[in-house]
Amino acid sequence: MAQVQRMSRLMVKTLRDDPADAETLNHKLLVRAGYVRRTAAGIWSWLPLGKKVLENITRVVREEMDAIGGQEVLLPALLPKESYDASGRYEEYGDLLFRLKDRKGADYLLGPTHEEIFTQIVKDQCSSYKDLPVILYQIQTKYRDEARPRAGVLRGREFQMKDSYSFDTTDEGLAESYALHREAYIRIFERLGLDHRIVSAVSGAMGGSASEEFLAPAPAGEDTFVDCPGCEYAANTEAVTFTAVAADASSHGPVEELDTPDTPTIETLAAHLGVPASATLKNLLVKVDGEITAVGVPGNREVDLGKLAEHLSPAAVELVTAEDFASRPDLVRGYVGPQGLEKVRYIADPRVAPGTAWVTGANKPDTHARNVVCGRDFEVDEYLDVVVVEEGDPCPKCGTGLNIDRAIEIGHIFQLGRKFADAFQLDVLGQNGKPVRVTMGSYGIGVSRAVAALAEQTADDKGLCWPREIAPADVHVVAAGKALQTELALQVADELSAAGLRVLVDERAGVSPGVKFTDAELIGVPKIVVAGRRASEGVVELKDRRTGEREELTVAEAVARLS
Ligand code: ATP
Ligand code: MG
Ligand code: MG
Ligand code: MG
Repeated sequence: MAQVQRMSRLMVKTLRDDPADAETLNHKLLVRAGYVRRTAAGIWSWLPLGKKVLENITRVVREEMDAIGGQEVLLPALLPKESYDASGRYEEYGDLLFRLKDRKGADYLLGPTHEEIFTQIVKDQCSSYKDLPVILYQIQTKYRDEARPRAGVLRGREFQMKDSYSFDTTDEGLAESYALHREAYIRIFERLGLDHRIVSAVSGAMGGSASEEFLAPAPAGEDTFVDCPGCEYAANTEAVTFTAVAADASSHGPVEELDTPDTPTIETLAAHLGVPASATLKNLLVKVDGEITAVGVPGNREVDLGKLAEHLSPAAVELVTAEDFASRPDLVRGYVGPQGLEKVRYIADPRVAPGTAWVTGANKPDTHARNVVCGRDFEVDEYLDVVVVEEGDPCPKCGTGLNIDRAIEIGHIFQLGRKFADAFQLDVLGQNGKPVRVTMGSYGIGVSRAVAALAEQTADDKGLCWPREIAPADVHVVAAGKALQTELALQVADELSAAGLRVLVDERAGVSPGVKFTDAELIGVPKIVVAGRRASEGVVELKDRRTGEREELTVAEAVARLS
């Protein structure tokens, strides 16, 4: 028999008003309906109703990961610095990383994602090609000191992620592990009832060859994606020019080194930008060999930021990260891809005249190069920015005008390749007795973010409105009246529970039917049963939370209908 949860004993305090700091629907409703409570900026406590929803999502994710042969593990969140030094990410992560020391002064971090630790575990546990392939996963708390934690649990600084990692000896094996994850993700998001699109994505700081994101369209989303009405093409805007320019990479001429003693001064730069010389510049492009060496400026084809910095007080040179760009569409945006430093479009920054510039690149102090192809001519450590495409821009595949929409990134799959295996010398003995370098994939789902994404996609003006599998209960029974109604409500609750349903029953004394109805709609359980006016005849009202459709039924009919 499934449980009956009495509202009188449930720790839930619903609120009539939106929290003052809430801008997004999910934030407002999850707080108002008593699912979560803010503990600090970007740090959330999950209250009983919220924990149930989180658990339901976790269960779906776990079942589908198990179905593709994933083995669940649980790794620590508190991690030694050494592991992240080995991959270079202790530095690379910059301010995003929570760093701390133990009592002896040793350095630790709170894990933002766990490639390093998984790689070390597999190095330790697997020694032969016979031990592979292997897929390991965990559903665990992650920490990222996000620049702008916002939108409730959508972007937390502490959050729940399902992260998995595949280990294979061949590229084909990796492609297969990736395909298994892709299929599992499709099933997960279908079961969760999340409307989603699979789009190509840049691999960003992760490096690696193939990467796709699962995006849930919603106005509160921080990602922008393009969708082609003419063909299958869909991509995160970060990836669009990436694909678009790949086609003409061959048209790049040979790299040409330019002597550039005339690197602009801040005055000429400021004049070009139409900003005061004291302005803070936010339009850098790319880090090469760990150093920012290129920046795009309208009218100037190459500017060396290092050189530039000599003319600026250090405080005025503000480094902009992808996070900044994602949350500040008013910043100047540019783009650099593995095919070269590419198109830069300056948008909506009131200080900068709109226009388009082409950047050809700079790769050493005082030497700027034309026709540089990143990846071919030098390694790119990190992409700092994103491209901006506009509605109606031609689809890189078929030329049709693109549609643009906002979405929430709910999942991300990567073919990492050998980047981490190289950092940790992860080899296994191959069939021929020689060591083989392992190739990896990494795959994430924002489990706590999925709660927010579902809320965004399913809520209406009355409140939350969960799909059944995810809802905190299957049925919400409301006693709308006095003792008679309460008695009937409890009876219905017991019968529904005996039929295997998860029941929430509102039998609170001294709470008006109006308040109970409002709470039921806010909490968002998909079916509502009301014991009210016709309780003496044993008749209840069955209401669909989404459509509002209602019908009067006997208790037996209602139970049969719902089971
Ligand atoms: P975003 O672009 O939103 O910052 P990300 O690309 O940095 O996300 P990944 O490193 O790809 O995130 O992590 C895998 C998944 O974890 C993401 O697809 C997302 O669903 C989730 N996630 C990432 N950051 C957060 C966060 N701050 N709060 C909640 N979920 C997150
Ligand atoms: Mg991020
Ligand atoms: Mg992202
Ligand atoms: Mg991502």
